[in-house]
Amino acid sequence: MSDLDNMYQQIILDGARERYGEGTLEDYDGESFQVNSTCGDEIDLRVKLSDDGTTLKDIKWHGQGCSISQASISIMTQMVEGKSIAEVKDLYESFRTMMDGRGHEVDEETEEKLEDAAAFAGVSKFPMRIKCALLGWMALIGAADSAVSGAPSDKSGSAALADSTNLLVNRPSPGAKE
Ligand code: ZN
Repeated sequence: MSDLDNMYQQIILDGARERYGEGTLEDYDGESFQVNSTCGDEIDLRVKLSDDGTTLKDIKWHGQGCSISQASISIMTQMVEGKSIAEVKDLYESFRTMMDGRGHEVDEETEEKLEDAAAFAGVSKFPMRIKCALLGWMALIGAADSAVSGAPSDKSGSAALADSTNLLVNRPSPGAKE
């Protein structure tokens, strides 16, 4: 195992232990519940937006599951708190692209942008665990979308799943010319 792998593994272990943002938000604008049935991971995540509706002011979650899922939620929450919805969606797309990379190295720009979340690059080698790392992000995007649209709380998770399907369909193939 390389030094980098060791460092990444430590980041994931620390995240799983820290559980940043765990708790209940009583005053919230959007909520999403997601389940990863292949592993048994669950998350219920709530967000509160700024008064102008453009920034994630507060995020709290309850979850259980494997250390990859719990670490990913913790690291994500720490990273996106206080960021604009647009920035959060951009981070989500970068994270998804990395997780779809099947263990290929991420470029430096992506690594810098994703900060500690880049530690999950190695997880993308294991198809069964990709959903574990993505679960928190799906809940975040689902909750943010329902907060922005003012729609009733998204309990089914179908909105986030539909959104991710679109991303898969719309992404250009690796060999596409500019
Ligand atoms: Zn899992």
